[in-house]
Amino acid sequence: MLLVIGCWALAMISALSWERRYTMACVAATLLCFLLIQGSSLAGWTGWVQVAALGVTPWLLAAQRTRDAAQRDQLHANEAKQLAQIGEAARSLLSLQTSNQQMEAQITDISDLYHVTKATVRTLHLPELFKASLDIAPRLIDAKTLRLIDLSESTPHVLRASRAGDGQMVVHDDRRLLEMEEALVRLSAMTREPTLVTSETLACALPEGVSHVAWAPLWRKQQRAGLLVADDLAASQVKTLSIVANQLSLQLSRIQLYQQVEALAVTDALTGVFVRRHFLELAVEELLRSKRHDLSCALLMIDLDRFKEKNDTFGHLVGDVVLRDVARLLTRNLREVDLIGRYGGEEFILLLIELSAEQAMPIADRLRQLVEVHPIRAYDELLSQTISVGVAEFPQDGETVEALIERADQALYEAKRQGRDRVVRWTDAIEKRS
Ligand code: GH3
Ligand code: MG
Ligand code: MG
Repeated sequence: MLLVIGCWALAMISALSWERRYTMACVAATLLCFLLIQGSSLAGWTGWVQVAALGVTPWLLAAQRTRDAAQRDQLHANEAKQLAQIGEAARSLLSLQTSNQQMEAQITDISDLYHVTKATVRTLHLPELFKASLDIAPRLIDAKTLRLIDLSESTPHVLRASRAGDGQMVVHDDRRLLEMEEALVRLSAMTREPTLVTSETLACALPEGVSHVAWAPLWRKQQRAGLLVADDLAASQVKTLSIVANQLSLQLSRIQLYQQVEALAVTDALTGVFVRRHFLELAVEELLRSKRHDLSCALLMIDLDRFKEKNDTFGHLVGDVVLRDVARLLTRNLREVDLIGRYGGEEFILLLIELSAEQAMPIADRLRQLVEVHPIRAYDELLSQTISVGVAEFPQDGETVEALIERADQALYEAKRQGRDRVVRWTDAIEKRS
């Protein structure tokens, strides 16, 4: 019986840990031993129950073991799948982070460009535009020196800024073009594309310590208006340089438009001299300056003599030509610092800076004579024109523009009264008469 129990125990152990064929062999050995030793007990049903128990239990155990192993494999498979999913998620998180960083860098670039535009939008002249762009542009363009060569005027000049020790861009004073800048201007006339150039390409030396420069053109109405030049710029940044140059081009067009509008707003369309409002604004400033420096100046009111007759005889178009000619003659014979405006229909107002009335009288008379002898060709007519002039002095005759105008007007009225074509200085006596 011990032999049967030993074989059965072996069958149970093999069911738990060995292969099926060993379990089968052990079960067979158990049943064989049982038949040999207890064969007689098969006559009753208890013997068959014992055989069944001995034969089936190792098989049940083996089946349970197989089920457990299958479950374990399934669990492992699920775990591996989950791990793979986690790995995938981590990878996409990483790529999301990378694209986030790229997007952030792009946003920084775009917002920097916006700031270049915003900072430059307030500026009205090229040097101001350059200075305003220096706050932001060096963050986008990693260059040692930035140059803006202005080609909008007949003589090109250059604005330069170099990076100081603290990283800030410092503007240079000297605006004359260096040899390499002149070479760049010549080169840029031949190609439209922004490029990197070396001293060999330019056929002249670059500044000390600079191995190459990058340039991009600024455009205004399809014309080259300037060049943006960056020393030792990385090739990958040439495109950014070109974007910044385009931004500056847009601002340049705006500046030009502003200057045109400004000129239209302050100059009289027919005569080209200042409109009355602008003249008065400038005159107020000028009187303040004269007061500060204890200087005198002379205000002249000029009226064309018997101008209505000209209009009535020859028509308004001819009258316009006469007005324009007289204005041109007066303007040409004044100093740069003097002011001239159209006060009314055929009246002009002048402010002669830093002159007393005594000094202004001969000048006013010279202007009168110039007009008198000047032949005016208007369409088919050859005409002449005379003027009358009233003169008042600051601060002696009046301390405000209004007071001076009133007195110069009284003097002008006196000139008309005396027979026209003359210059009269304001005096107390004139005031009493008027
Ligand atoms: P006086 O010597 O006293 O100044 O005589 P006047 O004829 O010049 O003076 P008045 O003020 O009577 O006439 C001024 C004329 O100037 C009247 C007006 O038709 C003319 N005028 C004003 N503005 C213009 C203009 O823009 N073009 C033309 N053609 N004529 C103008
Ligand atoms: Mg007149
Ligand atoms: Mg008049």
